[in-house]
Amino acid sequence: MARYTGPVCRLCRRETTKLFLKGERCLTNKCAIERRNYPPGQHGPGKVRKLSQYGIQLREKQKMRRIYGVSEKQFRGYFTKADRAQGVTGELFLRLLERRLDNVVHRLGFAPSRSAARQLVAHGNIFVDGKKLDIPSFLVKPGMVVSVTERHVNNVEIVQNVERARMRAIPGWLELAADKPEGKIVSLPSRAEIDTQVTEQLVVEFYSK
Ligand code: SF4
Repeated sequence: MARYTGPVCRLCRRETTKLFLKGERCLTNKCAIERRNYPPGQHGPGKVRKLSQYGIQLREKQKMRRIYGVSEKQFRGYFTKADRAQGVTGELFLRLLERRLDNVVHRLGFAPSRSAARQLVAHGNIFVDGKKLDIPSFLVKPGMVVSVTERHVNNVEIVQNVERARMRAIPGWLELAADKPEGKIVSLPSRAEIDTQVTEQLVVEFYSK
C-alpha cells in the first residue's frame, strides 16, 4: 500500500484522538482535535456508532500504525517478528517500532515529528556510529550513537527542537549529549518507557485471528 499523503490531521480525527503527527502544532489550540473532535466526512458529526470487538481492534491497529507512520505490510512484518520471538508479543511489537531510526531521531528531539525525522534520515542527514545511514526503518541497538551530520550540528531548528525535547524529558532508554544533537541508545525500551497511548494487546488480538 502506498504511503498516505493526504492531510494528517484527518487521521487523528478518524481515530478521534491526538496522534501527534505534526510536532509543536499538536500542542496548541490549532490542533484539529481541539476544534473538531469527530470523524471527518459527511456523517462525522452525527451519532457515535457502537463498534464491534473487531472494529475496536481494527481502530487500535490503525491508530498504532499511523502513530509510527509505517505501511500495513511493514507493520504486519513487525508483528510477525514479535510473535516469533520469546516474550510478551505486544511489548516486543512496540519495542520494534520504537527502535526504528526515524522514531529514535524524533525521540531524541532532532525532529518535531516522526515524519520530519523520516525526512531527515532519508535525506542523509543522520549518522549512526559516525556513518551516514539513510534508512528510516533501520533498527537501533544498545550502544549505538545517533547524531546529525556536521553541517546540521548548529542548525537553529534542530538545536531548538532538541531543547524543547529536553524540557519534555527524553525517554530513559536514550541518553542525549549535554552540548550537541547526539544521543546514545542505553538499553532496549521497556513498556513503561514507551509513552505511546495504545493498547497493544488489542492489536495482537487483531492479527492473531
Ligand atoms: Fe493530530 Fe497534531 Fe493535527 Fe492535532 S495537530 S489533529 S494532534 S496531527
